[in-house]
Amino acid sequence: MSTELPNAATQALAAHYQQILQGLGENPEREGLLDTPKRAAKAMQYLCNGYQKSLQEVVNGALFESDNDEMVIVRDIELYSLCEHHLLPFIGKAHVAYIPTGKVLGLSKVARIVDMFARRLQIQENLTRQIAEAVQEVTQAAGVAVVIEAKHMCMMMRGVEKQNSVMSSSVMLGAFRESCNTRHEFLQLIHRSN
Ligand SMILES: [Zn+2]
Repeated sequence: MSTELPNAATQALAAHYQQILQGLGENPEREGLLDTPKRAAKAMQYLCNGYQKSLQEVVNGALFESDNDEMVIVRDIELYSLCEHHLLPFIGKAHVAYIPTGKVLGLSKVARIVDMFARRLQIQENLTRQIAEAVQEVTQAAGVAVVIEAKHMCMMMRGVEKQNSVMSSSVMLGAFRESCNTRHEFLQLIHRSN
């Protein structure tokens, strides 16, 4: 057992998890479940810690002057989120591109922006848009493109139980929206085989 004292929010959540266990017909007093409410509370707080972060904090000044005006692509960013309808995970990959106009973003920051929004309760379409708009806001790029491909546990483990369906969503801003060529270049680059 951990000796650190859980904070009030964790304690309140843990009490709710205890009731959830009871509601599911379990006995929260049995040995295997004794610490489960607290562990579940902490896990959920971690998975939703994006609420505690701001764009400014995440970027933390990692914007660099650059003459580069070619497309910057960050492919295959691992993505773990929770669907707001069922509180079940959806997991997949995000691909983010932008066309700089004097400023480029530190590479790890793109992934951190993805995480900040993914670690909230989401639907995939909104998540895609929030990432695109955040990258746009920070970089003032000539265009931003975001594609997310994800598998939703709420589809795979329940409901239609489609094991292999991948949901794809995209948001194109600026040059990616206006120019077919730019959009195609991006889509080709993210889908080329390794
Ligand atoms: Zn769902």
